[in-house]
Amino acid sequence: MNTILLGPPGAGKGTLAAMLKDNFGLLHISTGDLLRDEMKGGTELGKTIKKYVESGELVPDQVVIAMIEKKLSEKNSGSKGYMLDGFPRTTVQAQDLDKILTKIGQPIDYALYMEASLPVILQRLTGRRVCRKCGAIVHIKNRPSKVAGVCDVCGGELYQRPDDTEETIKNRMHVYAEKTAPIVDYYAKQGKLETLSGDEETEDLLKIVAKIFNDGQRTDKIKGSTGH
Ligand code: ADP
Ligand code: ZN
Repeated sequence: MNTILLGPPGAGKGTLAAMLKDNFGLLHISTGDLLRDEMKGGTELGKTIKKYVESGELVPDQVVIAMIEKKLSEKNSGSKGYMLDGFPRTTVQAQDLDKILTKIGQPIDYALYMEASLPVILQRLTGRRVCRKCGAIVHIKNRPSKVAGVCDVCGGELYQRPDDTEETIKNRMHVYAEKTAPIVDYYAKQGKLETLSGDEETEDLLKIVAKIFNDGQRTDKIKGSTGH
């Protein structure tokens, strides 16, 4: 099962990804995480990336496409497919992704599109804290850690991403509407789009996604038995 996760910043893609990983054994590939790793390394590339990320702009297409191509070409034994989180974000990325996936014979089955309202998004992003060590995500009001500032999973420090401030969030939303929103249609045209409500509780989302995956398999079987 291969999926991509679409939706505006703060719609809950990260939370959905964590759930899909735990429940369906999918490999989680997040360009945001890959880019933050590169920035941590302090390389020349990392410094260039940082300028874009901290202002809420998109990193140039060729940089993220190269990262994704490398990641997807690695042997991922044990995982039952992948989910791409935060990629593609432009039409060019979507088209290049299709080329890469055709080449490696791992096409996308579903594009899961998380919708969420603006007030929900703002509340989520400004309260979001991330573990420096393991990447776990909490929310200071909706899903707080037991001890403030400390990760429940690993004891690492919880921090606020520099691009989770109100000013940068506004810019990210603007960039999303202009550059990323059009690719929802790209996947609708391929018949792969499934729309989910980002306002939903995590447990309910899990049920909805499980049903989408199961129904899909059933359809494949029917197709398989009537075709030849
Ligand atoms: P969120 O989903 O909360 O917006 P991400 O962690 O996915 O955050 O991305 C953080 C930042 O990394 C983006 O604002 C952008 O600057 C950069 N980025 C991530 N993925 C891409 C991509 N596919 N193309 C260009 N820039 C990206
Ligand atoms: Zn942690």
